[in-house]
Amino acid sequence: MVSRVIPVDPFDLIIFGGTGDLARRKILPGLFRRFCSGQMPPNARIIGAARANLGQAGYQEMIRAAIAEFGAPTDVENAQLGAFLAQLNYVAIDIRGDGGWAELAAMVRKNLVNAYYFSVGPGLFGDIASRLNTWGIATPEARIVVEKPFGRDLESAKSLNAILSAQFDENQIYRIDHYLGKETVQNLMAVRFGNLLFEPLWNAQYIDHIQITVAEIVGVGGRGAYYDKSGAMRDMVQNHLMQLLCLIAMEPPSHFDPDAVRDEKLKVIRSLAKVEPHHVVRGQYDATATMPSYRDDAENPRSFTESYVAIKTHIENWRWAGVPFYLRTGKKLKARTSEIAIVFKKLPHSIFEKSSDEKQNVLSIQLQPNEGMTLDVTIKEPGPGGMRLIHVPLDMTFADALGEHSEDTPDAYERLIMDVIRGDQTLFMRGDEVEAAWKWTDPIINAWENRNDVPKIYDVGSVGPEDAMALIHRDGRRWREVK
Ligand code: NAP
Repeated sequence: MVSRVIPVDPFDLIIFGGTGDLARRKILPGLFRRFCSGQMPPNARIIGAARANLGQAGYQEMIRAAIAEFGAPTDVENAQLGAFLAQLNYVAIDIRGDGGWAELAAMVRKNLVNAYYFSVGPGLFGDIASRLNTWGIATPEARIVVEKPFGRDLESAKSLNAILSAQFDENQIYRIDHYLGKETVQNLMAVRFGNLLFEPLWNAQYIDHIQITVAEIVGVGGRGAYYDKSGAMRDMVQNHLMQLLCLIAMEPPSHFDPDAVRDEKLKVIRSLAKVEPHHVVRGQYDATATMPSYRDDAENPRSFTESYVAIKTHIENWRWAGVPFYLRTGKKLKARTSEIAIVFKKLPHSIFEKSSDEKQNVLSIQLQPNEGMTLDVTIKEPGPGGMRLIHVPLDMTFADALGEHSEDTPDAYERLIMDVIRGDQTLFMRGDEVEAAWKWTDPIINAWENRNDVPKIYDVGSVGPEDAMALIHRDGRRWREVK
């Protein structure tokens, strides 16, 4: 099958924080891959902006090293590295001062697509937004990209939205949640809304429950100080897990266009039931003989911050009445896996021997470490021996059928940056969505903070605290295996 990479329009992409961790690990290696696949036009330009006095050549060298370290380029790609680096520029700028702004303003070509990536802490968003305006480079067509975390509660998210909307219209603001850029997340929408087969079954009549799991092996690493003020609820649930939940649960939008999709997602968030205290379990990993505890990693011996959270919730509408949604995420768990599992109901009546019909159909959407989609179905075990049934996963990833398309699959950051250049906001969070998500999570977090809730301990390398197992076992269900 012939690859169909469609080049985007020429652009100037300005990356504030262009020397930072995110820019070096994700943004620039991602852009390089898009360059190699032919999507970045020759007259497009990337301008890194940070305080260090690097000069263009110094910046190009920094990014050459970053691509070697984080981009895992092939020999074919390496042969194109020089041409890619030639499209990189750099401005030494102090976001809070005046230095560098005149140079940046002179450099930006306003007749092209202009995108400003705010790859800096949220404390600098307001300064960038107002200076872009002061220096006359925030045209009505310009786009801005902002990173998570988008606030730490409803109030701070509202104030960030107010800061950005003072200078930019909502249709210029791209709030990134890189989970939405994953291929399988979009495939989930294609499967739901591009086939007749699933949508009639996508409701409380046929679905028993839904599980969303984001399990990590890593701990808080070097991010201890930041993470300790945040915790799993703010860092993972409020954004990534809730976004995934929205895509599963939303009504079919009238069109696959940004506001139609985001309107439906917003309705889901607004329909989420208030979570009962006994339907939430917070956990914190404990030390083992060889591994440090969360408190060691966070360098806070009295920390009550959660590195794990499991929640049972419901969506209060006709489609999902009575269907539990179980969400869990945690650090230092047994395996790295992200999965959405749609578990269908048991057969109403089996015509086969009792022992063979126990298993339910499960549609499993894996986001990490490998992206893929399987549907567990029951078939007859081949061969003689009567009607013996087995359960096998039907691979819906179709890697073979897609041939070289599957190799071209961009990673989440690459796709999302190209969407910014194309002006497509479908996979970005709208301001009202973010606020509604905080409105749902705030009471849960506030209740913990008000009563100094002590998280349940779990072992490094386990699947989480015992109470999280009880949360689902009480309902006669089991968590999916973390493998
Ligand atoms: P970082 O490594 O600390 O980088 C910050 C960047 O901002 C550096 O390039 C720094 O360069 C620049 N900077 C800081 N103050 C500045 C100023 N006053 N004027 C001009 N430039 C300034 O941070 P990061 O990890 O890349 O994260 C950036 C943003 O992405 C944060 O909002 C973070 O929460 C978010 N994020 C990061 C990750 C990740 O994996 N790293 C993942 C998700 C979200 P100079 O100090 O030289 O100026």
